[in-house]
Amino acid sequence: MTARVCVAAAMSTDYVIPPPPTPSAAIAGSSDRFALRRVLCVGRNYAAHAREMGQDPEREPPFFFAKPSDSVFDAHPSLRASIVYPPLTENLHHEIELAVAIGIAGREIPPGQALDHVFGYAPALDLTRRDLQKAAKAKGHPWEFGKAFDRSAPLGAIVPAAEIGHPTRGRVWLEVNGDLRQEGDLSELIWSVAEVIAELSASIALAPGDLILTGTPAGVGPLNPGDTVRAGVEGVGALALAVARD
Ligand code: MN
Repeated sequence: MTARVCVAAAMSTDYVIPPPPTPSAAIAGSSDRFALRRVLCVGRNYAAHAREMGQDPEREPPFFFAKPSDSVFDAHPSLRASIVYPPLTENLHHEIELAVAIGIAGREIPPGQALDHVFGYAPALDLTRRDLQKAAKAKGHPWEFGKAFDRSAPLGAIVPAAEIGHPTRGRVWLEVNGDLRQEGDLSELIWSVAEVIAELSASIALAPGDLILTGTPAGVGPLNPGDTVRAGVEGVGALALAVARD
């Protein structure tokens, strides 16, 4: 055993810079953490939100985009997490979503087996620089920097599916300064969690540590410095976030 450790140490890689820390997420009721690989997001997965974005939900197939895994940070309500208002935007939007944490690798996963790949679930915010997203769309450019910016993915604690099963219904809600802004139900997802996993894994291999944000219900809107957000998914958990005053 000792010899093996020595061999591994001798073969260890030297880096010219310190290796970046591994982004990770909290797990409810545990001090262990969920190491994050990628954050994959579904666009327009609730009919009412597709309509408010000017699209016909009946005709639009789902599509995907990504955020960097180091945009994720712990935002369980007990932590009093905060962000500074991000740069280059005047229209930061909130989007509450069910996040799915992948625990087992797979590609071309059939929908009937998809939930076997899920480690757990958490509430997440897909913070969006809506003005940058809209300007990019209008020019036919990637929306990347409307979605993928520092601290753009506040996350509640992940609850293992071994404890809560695989939720198919439950209220999805978000309040700003105590006023209800977003409300929907998991039963209204156009593409179910299993279908999203099947669709994504037909395009790319999924691996442990991947986090899938499944889309937001209607009621997206702006956040301003000084605002306090509370949000959650019934049966999964809650998160809270303050937007710092400048
Ligand atoms: Mn979203």
